[in-house]
Amino acid sequence: MRIHNFNAGPGVLPEPVLQQAQRDIWDIGGSGMGIMEHSHRGKLFEKIIAEAEASARELARIPDNYRVLFIQGGATQQFAMVPMNLLSPGRTADYLVTGAWSEKALKEAKKFGTTHVALTGEASNYSEIPDPGQIRYSDQPVYVHLTTNNTIFGTQWRAEPPVPAGVPLVADTSSDMFSRPIDVSKYGLIYAGAQKNLGPSGIVMVIVRDDLVELGPSSIATMLQYRVYAKEKSLHNTPPTLAIYLVGRVLDWIRETGGLAAMAERNEAKARLLYDFLDQSSFFRGTAAAGSRSLMNVCFRAPTEALENAFCAEAEKRGMAGLKGHRSVGGMRASIYNACPRTSVEALVAFMKEFERANR
Ligand SMILES: *Cc1c(COP(=O)(O)O)cnc(C)c1O
Repeated sequence: MRIHNFNAGPGVLPEPVLQQAQRDIWDIGGSGMGIMEHSHRGKLFEKIIAEAEASARELARIPDNYRVLFIQGGATQQFAMVPMNLLSPGRTADYLVTGAWSEKALKEAKKFGTTHVALTGEASNYSEIPDPGQIRYSDQPVYVHLTTNNTIFGTQWRAEPPVPAGVPLVADTSSDMFSRPIDVSKYGLIYAGAQKNLGPSGIVMVIVRDDLVELGPSSIATMLQYRVYAKEKSLHNTPPTLAIYLVGRVLDWIRETGGLAAMAERNEAKARLLYDFLDQSSFFRGTAAAGSRSLMNVCFRAPTEALENAFCAEAEKRGMAGLKGHRSVGGMRASIYNACPRTSVEALVAFMKEFERANR
């Protein structure tokens, strides 16, 4: 039996994908071997990785002058790879800091060069995305980095911020990748750890514009240069073949269920169920500012910590997992990624109503 999974990451995966994976782990395509047992240089896997890329291109209408790369090391490794490759000496990289993950990205970039905080939501304790009018860019930044969805604080950029002409926008989209249409042409580089919306942990999808691929000095470690992944189609060494296979299946599932626009509609409707309930509740309260609310991670509090603990414990008993907020902020968080069915959100709202009645 499967329960309602609100985990922040790794998170819930689509059931049809898991069912197909069960079969393909045993024997894929009648080959007499499971997906994990195939050579990464064989025809079967070559097709799998090429199709995963093709699906990503089709879903997000990725222009031809962008590469789609599969890289290990998580989004956290991209915090370093981005400045290692793009932050040339004498230049400054600008960071829009809207939460814990942007702070981490900034901290890592500082190891490799000069950075500038062009915007920070620290004053509101990251409960909102500050007005883009407050952004103060440095003179000719080499790139601007932002986190599109703040997984821990439950806030999300509604649209890309304005950037100075010709400056590439670099985005950590780990927790909202392919949850809505994305205009790739507005970005220089997009990266997303797969374990929230795209597949299992252990793989990152990077979409990078051709002119940025070659910027990194060739003196940096081979496995940390974007050009190596671009030139060798993410097959310089043995990649996590199972993870890439799974990303491919998740992308198929997104396409079969209507693509990114349909996904965005479903995600908006799911989030609305929760936020509408929170807005009228006199017991629970959402923590993100109304205009900054994430459609992926809905953070909320109850009147006391004791009640919050009781809520999470009772939810577990009723087959709802992963509702405890991040340890750094407390409270509750419902992560309602692409693969989280509407029925799970309905079950959660019903339980919240009942809990409120019983404890008000
Ligand atoms: C989860 C997450 C990360 C960290 O991903 P890892 O794969 O664990 O390195 C980074 N950024 C955001 C926005 C995330 O949600």
